[in-house]
Order: sequence, then C-alpha cells, then structure tokens
Amino acid sequence: MSTGSPLLADLIDALRCLPGVGAKTAQRMAFHVLERDRSGGRRLSERLALAVERIGNCTRCRTFSEEPVCALCANTSRDRSLLCIVETPVDQAAIEQATGFRGHYFVLLGRLSPLDGMGPKELGLDALAQRLGEGEVKELIAATNPTVEGEATAHLLAQLARAAGVRASRLAHGVPLGGELEFIDRGTLAHAFGGRQSLS
Ligand code: ZN
Repeated sequence: MSTGSPLLADLIDALRCLPGVGAKTAQRMAFHVLERDRSGGRRLSERLALAVERIGNCTRCRTFSEEPVCALCANTSRDRSLLCIVETPVDQAAIEQATGFRGHYFVLLGRLSPLDGMGPKELGLDALAQRLGEGEVKELIAATNPTVEGEATAHLLAQLARAAGVRASRLAHGVPLGGELEFIDRGTLAHAFGGRQSLS
C-alpha cells in the first residue's frame, strides 16, 4: 500500500513475518501502534530484539534457553531415565502443564518431512542417539503429533531407541488423528500421556 511513509510500509511488511498475519492485519497492527500505543510498540521492539538476540537453544534438549543448559535439564530432581520427545517447545509446555511428567525432554524443533528439508540431521537425531547411548535413559516417550509426519517421526524414534536398547512408547489414542498437541485439552492430553503404549 502507499502511505507516503516508506518506514510505515516497511513496518507493515515486517509484521507479516508473524503467523496468521496478512496484509490487512499487519496494517491494522501498525496503525494501532502509531495512533494509540507508541510506548507498547517501543516495548515490543525492545523485547523482540532482546529475545531474538539472546534466546538460543539448550545444548542438551534443544528447547529455547538463554543459558547453555536450560533450567529443566539442570534440574537434578527430575527423573533422568524418562525422555519425552516432542516436536516443539510449545508441545513441551503443553505436556508440562497437562501431565505430571517428571522426566526430561528432547525437542526436535520440527518433524520428519524430507520435502521441507527436515531430515534426521535437522531434528538433532545424532545428539539424541548419543544421549540414548549414555545409558541413563530407560524409556523414550515419542510424543510427536498424531499426524502422518508425526507418526513417521515416532517410527524413526522407535528405531533409534531399539538400536540403543531403550524401551520406546507412544501416546495412547484419544489424541485425535491429525490433531496437534498444543490444541488438545489438558484432560485428553494427560490421559493419552498416562496411557502411552509400547512402540514395537
Ligand atoms: Zn534443556
């Protein structure tokens, strides 16, 4: 759109990097900040810059962390024999909130999808294999989403576990096929987690 302000046009364009934000929404957001909430806009720009600059990934579980090892991985009171594998930090948060899981996590930061360039390397599976080889993990819980790609990922995880002599399990049914963990209600997720089944 032409506004007479190249900066404004740039801002609207930049806002479109957010999921679900098209041209109209981006324009509304930009106008809102300039018309009504410049201090909120300043705060947002500062937080965004800091987050992008400082938040990296935990070297152990790959979740978002400002420290080399995240607080959860560093927590010695959690059970190191249970390793729950999730696709994203959002799924990890959903499981933390919905279940009483007290083990550790490994975050794939994606799911197996060769066409999108997501293979074993991108999912950090070499680091995972190394972790399983350390001998502490007794059960791998594949908590990938019940989508076609999530199932393929779980299958690959089961192979890794088998190679390392680690038991593998998968969330029970109740998680709807094609669903995403982050959108499932707590009760269903807790039930599916509690009723996980062996992956052969
Ligand atoms: Zn961690």
